[in-house]
Amino acid sequence: MTILCYHSVEPDWESPLAVEPDVFTGQASWLSRHRRVLPLADALPRLDARGWLPRSHAALTFDDGFAALHTHVLPVLIKEGLPATVFLVAETLTPAGRPVDWVDTPGSEPLVTLTLDQVLEMQDAGVDFQSHSWAHRDLTQLTEDECVRDLRDSRELLSDVLGRPVPLLAYPRGRHSPQVRRAAARAGYTHAFALPERAEQVDAYAVPRIGIYRGNGHLTMRVKSTRPYARVRTSDQGARVVGQVRRVAVGLRQQRR
Ligand SMILES: [Zn+2]
Repeated sequence: MTILCYHSVEPDWESPLAVEPDVFTGQASWLSRHRRVLPLADALPRLDARGWLPRSHAALTFDDGFAALHTHVLPVLIKEGLPATVFLVAETLTPAGRPVDWVDTPGSEPLVTLTLDQVLEMQDAGVDFQSHSWAHRDLTQLTEDECVRDLRDSRELLSDVLGRPVPLLAYPRGRHSPQVRRAAARAGYTHAFALPERAEQVDAYAVPRIGIYRGNGHLTMRVKSTRPYARVRTSDQGARVVGQVRRVAVGLRQQRR
């Protein structure tokens, strides 16, 4: 099992980043019955060298801090008793705010992020908040010093408003480089999370996660959250990948019967 990465959960935004609420409710219910879902900080010491959690364990993360999490995720987390971490873009919490202009598939309505009041209410309910940078820029396009400043400003603002340390970072779009990883360490983070599309090195500043997207039904979520899927996603072996994922899917279907 592994660390799962969602973005938003909402019905009307037709985007890979927005899982339908009823689908998320079903996935959360399944996870609470079949997996030991760990708070992210507790999951970190249990990751193996390839970034996998022990079998039957999982952790839940959400990138960007979309306002829809307050409506469609918080009640489900409370009902199922699931821990989760939300990675916030710090500038969205400043008085000037930050419009959501970083998504490739904007909806018909402007996308909004959580207000500070909503963040604090969710934190009181047990949700963990960490950093998704200052302004969701592509960190690989910044100089190392610009990157350190962006990440340090984010960590400092967030720990100030949340009233607790913010040692974890999720890279915007999962993008990183040796320079970005170095900057994350210099800015005071202990771990940083990626979203690998193909083989990537794994270490404390490149912890892999598996993305869950709109259209990923219940079975796909189960396939994606098993070790064989995590293994093929991080090994980039072409056709063998398809075969292995199919075998996992068939195995799960048989278990279900
Ligand atoms: Zn993001």
